[in-house]
Amino acid sequence: MVKSAPCPICKVAVQPPESGETTHFPFCSKRCQNVDFMRWCNGEYAIVEPLTQDKLIEHLSPEELEDLLEE
Ligand SMILES: [Zn+2]
Repeated sequence: MVKSAPCPICKVAVQPPESGETTHFPFCSKRCQNVDFMRWCNGEYAIVEPLTQDKLIEHLSPEELEDLLEE
């Protein structure tokens, strides 16, 4: 039984990878993985609050936002 887990960034349900499979788990995508990585770099994990799309957008630079909205 495979349980999905919410993506730490956008809270979308993510299926855990099969053994041997390469995914971005626990993130839903490389994009969210990058957002997480940038947050660590910026020390933004000091802020403990649920991440909503609005919050995410607040924290992103215009370039990052543009990149996110492309998809
Ligand atoms: Zn995500």
